[in-house]
Amino acid sequence: MTCDLTDKIFTDEEAARAHFEALRWPDGPICPHCGTIGEATELKGKTTRPGLYKCRACQKPFTATMGTLYERSHIPLHKWLLATHLMSASKKGMSAHQLWRMLGFGSYRTAWFMAHRIREGMRELFSDESGPLGGEGKTVEIDETFVGGLEKNKHRSKRKHRGTGGVGKEAVLSLVERRGKVRSHHIPAVTAANLRPIVEAQIHADTHVMTDEGGAAKKVGSEFAKHSSVNHSAGEYVRGDAHTNTIEGYFSIFKRGIYGTYHHVSQQHLKRYLAEFDFRYNERIALGVTDKMRAAKALNGIVGKRLTYHQPN
Ligand SMILES: [Zn+2]
Repeated sequence: MTCDLTDKIFTDEEAARAHFEALRWPDGPICPHCGTIGEATELKGKTTRPGLYKCRACQKPFTATMGTLYERSHIPLHKWLLATHLMSASKKGMSAHQLWRMLGFGSYRTAWFMAHRIREGMRELFSDESGPLGGEGKTVEIDETFVGGLEKNKHRSKRKHRGTGGVGKEAVLSLVERRGKVRSHHIPAVTAANLRPIVEAQIHADTHVMTDEGGAAKKVGSEFAKHSSVNHSAGEYVRGDAHTNTIEGYFSIFKRGIYGTYHHVSQQHLKRYLAEFDFRYNERIALGVTDKMRAAKALNGIVGKRLTYHQPN
């Protein structure tokens, strides 16, 4: 079920706060000063701001947004919830201009900042992710693609690249487990030396690795005990189980977003856009993730999960 954009959490600050507290504190308020869980009293009254709690262990006051971006940014929490929901649910991404219009708030610059901060939160979720893709009986497809530049708009003679090469563009390496997750990386160039450390660290040694005939990916893929490749340049796309259709499908979603929604992505920010598309793919409906669950996960990324809490003595 999709989330209703008229939900009060997107329009009302009080409802937004209650929603955020429930997500952030499933076991009751957590004191950011001493780490005590579920031992706080909400201070209610005309003189205190809503959502202010007092820790019964250390006696200090706190709120659910204390120490987070939501407190520092001075943007209403319900606008953050709306922006996060919109970006989590839009399959092809959402430009800062579109986000600005839909938020009905702030400036273009504010919307741009929010969009980038939400992407960064999606990226932080992955840095926590442990363990390699694949394993016994599983298949991971590896391939590279090139994005950026406006090569197609340049006169033929001025284009820096020919054919399918990537000169003047940014190189992206993706690893996709079939019926599983994707991990994408912005790499300086497509060489076996650049691919190898990523592939070795992120793909389980017992995985059946699938590549096309492209030099570097095939070279690194062939270092696995189980490796297959298809020869696209010879017109071969599927040979039994050997194909790279999963990763081609992923690249096509990513490119429709990059060229259709964002038009241009700078080298500096490419890793954030990759995180955004990886995030939506990994938290997709086919894996049982609803729009609501996906947005909740993105909010966690923004708050940061590195804070560690302990139970009261
Ligand atoms: Zn405390």
